[in-house]
Amino acid sequence: MHEDIMAQPANRPVFAPWNDPNEKPLIQFKNVTKKFGEFTAIDDMTLNIYRKEFFALLGPSGCGKTTLMRMLAGFETPTKGTILLDGVDIAPIPPNKRATNMMFQSYALFPHLSVWENIAFGLKRSDMPKEKIPARVEEMLKLVRLEKFAKRKPHQISGGQRQRVALARSLAKAPKLLLLDEPLGALDKKLRQDTQFELMDIQEKTGTTFVIVTHDQEEAMTVASRVAVMDHGKMIQVDTPDRIYETPNSVYVADFIGDVNIVEGTATPKGDGKVAIAWAEGQPEISASIAEGVAPGTKVHFAIRPEKVAISSDRPEGKANVIEGTVHDIAYLGNISTYKVEVAGGRMIKAQVANDRRIARRDISWDDKVWLSFTDTAGVVLLN
Ligand code: ATP
Repeated sequence: MHEDIMAQPANRPVFAPWNDPNEKPLIQFKNVTKKFGEFTAIDDMTLNIYRKEFFALLGPSGCGKTTLMRMLAGFETPTKGTILLDGVDIAPIPPNKRATNMMFQSYALFPHLSVWENIAFGLKRSDMPKEKIPARVEEMLKLVRLEKFAKRKPHQISGGQRQRVALARSLAKAPKLLLLDEPLGALDKKLRQDTQFELMDIQEKTGTTFVIVTHDQEEAMTVASRVAVMDHGKMIQVDTPDRIYETPNSVYVADFIGDVNIVEGTATPKGDGKVAIAWAEGQPEISASIAEGVAPGTKVHFAIRPEKVAISSDRPEGKANVIEGTVHDIAYLGNISTYKVEVAGGRMIKAQVANDRRIARRDISWDDKVWLSFTDTAGVVLLN
């Protein structure tokens, strides 16, 4: 019995419609450009989003995330290119007739209406027969676990509860696509984390496709089936959270998501999918794996996450890469410690250690001589 339960997750089909050539995308951006005067906010973008996806848009301020959402919602029209929803060009369809809904960061609840009335509001203005509305509102209240709060006004409930009312209201008309602009932005960190799981749960229960804009990369990595990292109106990488983190396609993405060490160097192919990277005079070259072939002498960036770098007082045996350095700084964060280590040429490399033991590596201190080590598959070699 116990074994059966344990076996279940492995048997669960992997959700990856983007890998299935027979799967039709729900949303298709085809060479979409959006200009504001001379300024290009979205630059020749082609992108597919699939049914039931939880798709996150990430990128620095001004990279075009909101513009992309507003085009889907119908508040902006593309300057060039087409957007299809379920195979149909949405350009001629006004916002209120689209099978999309947008939930704003401010929630935009009506302060004088009760929770119940807020959720019913959109339904009353829709084609839904009047007698069906109460049942739908009740269903939505149950979905967001607010049955007991139906009669309260927005100012009589908490921020997290208001967020759930806004979500219920957005989902009441069963849109094919829900656009969420910083949906958890108004919540504090702890509540935000709890609400992320709730949001995922509700998304899964309703089977609605969610597109979310967030500034919080951890949030995007937690909730999303795929993450799009944008820059200057272009998609730099669209991938699953683990691939974005483990195999970024560029220095930009590696640097944008999480903490990373980036070392510049010159690569020499060594066969067997390996390269040797010369990075500092008099230092042993870094041995790393590489997916594609490179010409000898190619300038590359080697990116490695701090948690993939081990730190020790004694020189470790049997590691592909060993670098000597001096501890410059230590940041103790409770569950993890980060050591900033100065290596050849004054470069800094960070090593992160999980404090799983109570007295975590207290033997390493400021100004100590240490050894950093990592395997040859721990980092990625980036060509751009
Ligand atoms: P943020 O994270 O700060 O919300 P964003 O990625 O959502 O940023 P957008 O709001 O999509 O960015 O804006 C993209 C670019 O287009 C910005 O440089 C912005 O100044 C510009 N822009 C957006 N709307 C207009 C407009 N109506 N007129 C002129 N420029 C605009």
